[in-house]
Amino acid sequence: MPFVLPECDKDVPERKKHIYLKDEKDEFAIPACNIATTPGDLTERGCTYAGCRGVVGGPVKDVIQLQHGPIGCCYYPWAARPHVATGTNFHLANAFSTDLRESNIVFGGEKKLYNSIVEASEAFPNAQGVFVYATCVAGLIGDDITAVAKRASKAIGKPVVAFNCPGFRGVSQSLGHHVGNQVLFDTIVGTEELEEKTPYDINLIGEYNIKGDDWLIVPLLESIGLRVVCTFTGDASIHDIAKMHAAKLNVIRCARSAKYIAEMMQEKYGTPFMEVDLYGITQTANDLRKVAQYFGLEEKAEEVITKELAEIKEELDFYREKLKGKKVMIYQGGPRSWHWPETMAELGVDVVVVATTFGHEDDYEKIVKRVKNGTLVIDNPNAPELEEAMLKYKPDLFISGTKEKYLSHKYGVPFLNGHTYESSGGYMVFKGLVRFARDMYKSLYSPSWKFVRTQETAAEAQ
Ligand code: SF4
Repeated sequence: MPFVLPECDKDVPERKKHIYLKDEKDEFAIPACNIATTPGDLTERGCTYAGCRGVVGGPVKDVIQLQHGPIGCCYYPWAARPHVATGTNFHLANAFSTDLRESNIVFGGEKKLYNSIVEASEAFPNAQGVFVYATCVAGLIGDDITAVAKRASKAIGKPVVAFNCPGFRGVSQSLGHHVGNQVLFDTIVGTEELEEKTPYDINLIGEYNIKGDDWLIVPLLESIGLRVVCTFTGDASIHDIAKMHAAKLNVIRCARSAKYIAEMMQEKYGTPFMEVDLYGITQTANDLRKVAQYFGLEEKAEEVITKELAEIKEELDFYREKLKGKKVMIYQGGPRSWHWPETMAELGVDVVVVATTFGHEDDYEKIVKRVKNGTLVIDNPNAPELEEAMLKYKPDLFISGTKEKYLSHKYGVPFLNGHTYESSGGYMVFKGLVRFARDMYKSLYSPSWKFVRTQETAAEAQ
């Protein structure tokens, strides 16, 4: 029986179809996913607004990121994701909100929105435009943010882009990604021309420059002779997005959050796309070969791969030795859960549990294909499920996000933040793998764990 109901879920039997134990006899089964959370099952999903604002629109560095709603919805975007940028961190340093109050809910918030756009653009004249995001409240009172954006754009003489992403839409933040892609495609892509085109122009899609990932990937792609027109949307200017249509190929890093725009560009501009992992040695090398082959740059790619691997070998060997035989539990939003099983295998680490917050069928197909027999795969877990999995599968390390950090510490399980990374940051491609391994090592071997009373040591002490 490949599907399992944890003990903690006896009151939520619907959870059984979401939790799959990889079984070679039924290896193509995947957990139920991308459906509404069962009432009573308290999971950790973000809302549509969070997906649109926090993931897709938020990294654009030179626009006013204006949240249309009560101030509470501003919490997560406020520096929660360190998508750093070159030249300015305007988007991280400032949070803008229309701060809707009771009277606005009764009489409407459109006037306040219009005034906020004008006021913010006067206060920050260097901003290149305004992104307006609807929250639940704006959606419920029926403010027409698109019409306001049009009027305000004329008044300030810059693009004002309206994202209809109230939190209640969809079953998770995943719909917010889709909305973000669609709106930017409809309103910005294709509105400016690239001055100098080359035959080697690409876009990097679904890469958000968390702690500088982009700054590892782009130089690597450039070293084989490519030029990145736009990273969608990490370290991106609104003007970069406007020129995306000039690229010859779209290279997709996070397929869950941004494949949509690649598909739309293929349909409208005929731009082909390819998916990549760009984590670990084998996947990164194969991805580089795949992209290089498209442009006839295979020789250069081999040269770069050899050089990069030689540079990281000594340090990586040290960490591999330290990590060998350790067990890890991975819980990410979506794709990192399928990017990482092979990366962990290269480090000698065994993946025992994998979960995602908002994975769709295609994410789980990849996860199930990439994990070994006996791995527990959980869709949209609740905290008791995570606790039970930690007790039962006894991982040496839990790689997840901020929300799970203290849960993990409470259980005496070393933790690594795989969403926003730890101190050294940037875990992608060859150089990032060393940082990833180093942070895993630092977490696992921290002397602090000697002082933690786990359930076992507490029982022994009694
Ligand atoms: S109120 Fe709605 S938009 Fe705001 S954080 Fe909650 S679910 Fe998201």
